[in-house]
This record gives sequence, C-alpha cells and structure tokens, in this order.
Amino acid sequence: MQDTGDIEQVAAGFFQVGLYLRSKQWRSAEKSGLTSTQVSILGFLKRRGPNRVMALARLVGITEATASRAISTLQRKGLVEKSADPDDGRATRISLRTAGVRAMSRQSEFPQTLLAALAGLDPAESTVLHRVLSKVILHLQETGAIEPQRMCCTCRFFQPYVHTDAFRPHHCEFVDAPFGTVSLRLDCGDHIQADEAVRTQRWRRFLAVKPLEQGNS
Ligand code: SF4
Repeated sequence: MQDTGDIEQVAAGFFQVGLYLRSKQWRSAEKSGLTSTQVSILGFLKRRGPNRVMALARLVGITEATASRAISTLQRKGLVEKSADPDDGRATRISLRTAGVRAMSRQSEFPQTLLAALAGLDPAESTVLHRVLSKVILHLQETGAIEPQRMCCTCRFFQPYVHTDAFRPHHCEFVDAPFGTVSLRLDCGDHIQADEAVRTQRWRRFLAVKPLEQGNS
C-alpha cells in the first residue's frame, strides 16, 4: 500500500502538467481569437469527426449549455456547421468547415516542450508511462469521471502479450501486426469497443505481465 502523501505528490505532478497544457492552450487560442473551450471542441471534431452537441460537451467536460454557446460562436465565425444527423433525422450534428480545419492546423495540439520532455524518456520509462496512463485513464473512465476513450486496452482488436518478442508482445488485429507497450494507443481512430467480458479478460492478461519481466516491452 502506498503512502497517501506519496500518492498526492503524483497527483500534484498530473496537476502541474494539466495546468501547463491548459495555459499553453489558452495562449494559443487567444492568438486565434478563440477560447480554449472553442479550441477543444474544434480539436475533438478534427480527431473524431462530426458529433452531436451533447457528445462534444461530454468529451470536453463542460455542460451542454456551455457547449451550445461555444458552438454557436464557432458557427458565426464560419468554423463549424450544423446538419441533420444521418443516424437520426431529428438530431443535429456538428462538423468542421474548411475554415475550421485551417484554424486547427494553426493550433499546436501538444506543446513542443512537453513533446521534447517525453522524447527524452528511455524505452523502459516510456513503457511504464504508457502502462500507468492506460491504468489511470481506464480507472477514470470506469468510474464515470471521464467519457470512454479510444484506447487499446478497451479495443476489440487488442491482444496483449500473445507474442514472444519482448519488444513487441501485443497484437493489433486491425492492422494484423505486433506492437510494443510504448506504442499502446490512448486515442486511436480505429478503436472499436470490445464486449465487457472480452475486455476484462484481456485487461487481466495485460496486467498479469509486468513490463520489467519482458525487458522493455
Ligand atoms: S485498432 Fe487501435 S486501439 Fe485497437 S488495438 Fe489496434 S492500435 Fe489499439
């Protein structure tokens, strides 16, 4: 059992990184005449394609009313458009317009300084970080704190530890190729949610192997 103070120090670390990301996003959004909420909505539309207001609100972690106001502003600026949802004619979905795609291409999604710090990790550190982030994000998801994420560990194509190659022990059935823990996806466009029983069984298999037992896997 870890000491509460130690756990809080790790939480403080996450908090610091979160603060840094938010302040970078605020500054970058400001330069484009947008708010960070508007940039977050544009970012999700870019990564996930057209979506309903309620889904966007959940992804960004804001109320539906706040999302509606931000989307109306983005619509007035000509960055997004509303259209009938092909899955439900009574519902509306939001999509990026060409100007919205251009606006997002000017926004750096992840600060170079953070990317440089992560690039400086050695493979063993990176492996542990991927496992840690997968476990923490999955816990947040399963307790309802955040929306379901498109991660390997919940994907129907994920087969953990099925290869003997210590560096690439997992298999992605979507691309039919082995891969290592450092390549675990936390937001994958090809993700399809696995059935709960399958997910639980594969996740247990993943957790049963410690990365240090498998070299830098
Ligand atoms: S499709 Fe994407 S999320 Fe699914 S196992 Fe392959 S890489 Fe992971």
